[in-house]
Amino acid sequence: MSQTTSSRILVTGGSRGLGLAICTRLLTEGQEVFTLARSISAEVQKLAASFPGRLHFHPVDLADREAVDGYVKQHPWLMDLDGLVANAALGTDGLLLMTPDAALRKCIEVNLTSTVVLTKTILKGMLQRGGNLVFISSIAAKTALKGLSVYSATKAGLAAFCRTIAKEYGERGIRANCILPGFLDTEMSHGLNDHQRQQIIRRTALRRLGEGDDICGVVSFLLSPAARFITGAEIVVDGGFSI
Ligand code: NAP
Repeated sequence: MSQTTSSRILVTGGSRGLGLAICTRLLTEGQEVFTLARSISAEVQKLAASFPGRLHFHPVDLADREAVDGYVKQHPWLMDLDGLVANAALGTDGLLLMTPDAALRKCIEVNLTSTVVLTKTILKGMLQRGGNLVFISSIAAKTALKGLSVYSATKAGLAAFCRTIAKEYGERGIRANCILPGFLDTEMSHGLNDHQRQQIIRRTALRRLGEGDDICGVVSFLLSPAARFITGAEIVVDGGFSI
């Protein structure tokens, strides 16, 4: 188990999938965790009961710009955070010309715009004492995957954002790193049919889809003092899908 310097960490999209795995890992390591999603899940309720007073859930729709602005204004503790794990996202599935504009806009809003707005507020609070930012991007940021054009654009945007934040605020003791997971066996990939799933597994050197636990060790490492000289990095965790 890694020892981390961060003690108050916001994980966006902690209701299920990778976000839930990250929340669980950080709580197990002794951190105080804040998380948000549109609604609380049974898993988060159970986790909160197992770690009394250390997991705080807030319902926010990250696709709703006014709701995000309101959340930032109403929650000054965002300025007291030691860490952010920007994980919430949704996928757009379908060739560009088949995808409604509303779905494309929502994807950009959740995956990119809301992350930028939250990061801006959290960074202000970190200026005096340093902090740690981890952005969950995707191998789709680097690999062309049919049907994921806008999703890929948001994930590449997140990686570029992360790199630039690392450069701009490194001198203030703030580190920013990006993780690029491969396909994970979460709700996001449940739209894949059996044929697509088998194709992905065949292309993956380690011959399986990833799980939340495959990624959260890397999150924990990046938040820990062991990673104190790592910033602006993009770490691919895809079982060898993209090699
Ligand atoms: P997931 O199971 O679909 O979970 C997505 C999380 O984001 C949920 O907690 C969801 O909460 C939250 N979310 C979605 N829309 C939201 C909104 N409008 N407002 C607030 N929260 C919202 O996805 P996952 O697989 O765990 O993905 C986690 C991260 O890994 C994402 O950044 C994803 O891009 C990345 N990733 C995933 C894969 C994959 O194959 N699954 C591959 C590479 C990278 P609610 O729905 O409850 O609001």
